Amino acid sequence: MFKEKEVGIKLPRNKERTENKPIEIKKPDEFLYFPVHGRLGRNAKIFVEVGDKVKIGSVLAIYYFGNIKINITSSVSGEVVGFKEVDTFRGIQDAVIVKNDFLDTEDLMEPLKDDATVADLVKQCREAGLIGTDNSLSTNKQFSVRKGEISYIFINGAECEGYSTAFSRVLIEYAEEIVKIAEYVRKIYDSKLAFITMVEDDTEAVEAINNEIKKQKLDKVIGFTIPNLYPQDDSGFLIRKVLKSYKTSESYSDAGVLFSDVSTYKAVYDAVFKGLHFKERVVTVTGDIVKNPKNLSMRTGTLISSLLKECDTPINSENNYIDGGPMMGRNINDLDSPIPKQSSTILALPPLKKRKESACVKCSGCVVICPVKLMPIKIATAYRKRQYSKYLEYNSLECMDCGLCSFMCPSCIDLAREVREYNNKVEELRDGKNQKCAIL
Ligand code: SF4
Ligand code: SF4
Repeated sequence: MFKEKEVGIKLPRNKERTENKPIEIKKPDEFLYFPVHGRLGRNAKIFVEVGDKVKIGSVLAIYYFGNIKINITSSVSGEVVGFKEVDTFRGIQDAVIVKNDFLDTEDLMEPLKDDATVADLVKQCREAGLIGTDNSLSTNKQFSVRKGEISYIFINGAECEGYSTAFSRVLIEYAEEIVKIAEYVRKIYDSKLAFITMVEDDTEAVEAINNEIKKQKLDKVIGFTIPNLYPQDDSGFLIRKVLKSYKTSESYSDAGVLFSDVSTYKAVYDAVFKGLHFKERVVTVTGDIVKNPKNLSMRTGTLISSLLKECDTPINSENNYIDGGPMMGRNINDLDSPIPKQSSTILALPPLKKRKESACVKCSGCVVICPVKLMPIKIATAYRKRQYSKYLEYNSLECMDCGLCSFMCPSCIDLAREVREYNNKVEELRDGKNQKCAIL
């Protein structure tokens, strides 16, 4: 349907250990930790005190991001027993600690009707604790656009990195719910089409979704497949397949797109049709040292160490623990931190051989491989020389952080990290100049 030159590389496939394992529900822990996305008293306001009783969906804190409010909600019922600093990818944050009473008490919300408006949907998702669940839903513009301003809905179930099977299992096991919510949201925004994106060799998921679309007799929900070439599952890539001119630095809503992943949409389904609060998400725990890899449905606020133990994973400081895949994932600093709300994979690998960096041999490999046609070595050089004003000339903000340049470099230069740090500095300088809050 949408033809363009296929870009990307085929990564080694390591999904065999979990792809046929049904989602298992992890028994919630006794203590859950809810980071409040910001330093206490700065970006977030905590609404509970030690001793307060909470239910599933109770608002523990509100995080303020520009003019949006993001509810931080409890995933269990119980009692607030304290506060703790936790080390997350967004830095050290205060977290509310809830002691689980294992009763799962919840005041359900009123499900939405068929004639719900955009405002109703946004309100339901906010109350469910869903706004801010993934990067795409964390911006105000993304969800709070007016009817008619969104042309395409994207529900991403494609995973081209070698290990994760969480999206695939959600597509297979919740095909009916995903297709139903796709059409529901499409209608609310009066969008032209809703795409459910999948990797073409994920045949069971593709079949499940396509059969469901036929069963529900929908002609505006499309099962859209991509080749298993990394990083074609990236949001920018997927959107560009439809809107040829889309730039990574452009916001989704400015491009007329609403983009999120299947796990988030499963939670949107639960909020819309069942009135449930957001409390759980499917995560694949896998990797060479994991003895019993699984697709686990776990409560938000669960510690990473608890997930690893559940899958019989040895824990020691020599191994590598990564949130995400081997290409785009981030090393986890503290295993006793709660798993981020948007995570879908925890990877545990044995110690990696250290690669020694040497001088650039000018092979052009990083330039040829870059899917958005950047010159990573030039940006890395500008980073080392602190030439931040060059970002426009080098178009550095278009970087999608895919890691291919580092992967490719024969001199073992970690170009992707240097480009990322260069862009972080550029954003920081621009935001300081404009006195704006940094974009997450
Ligand atoms: S990480 Fe490297 S290869 Fe990937 S988009 Fe950025 S500069 Fe290009
Ligand atoms: S891939 Fe590495 S060695 Fe080749 S041009 Fe880029 S930085 Fe230099």
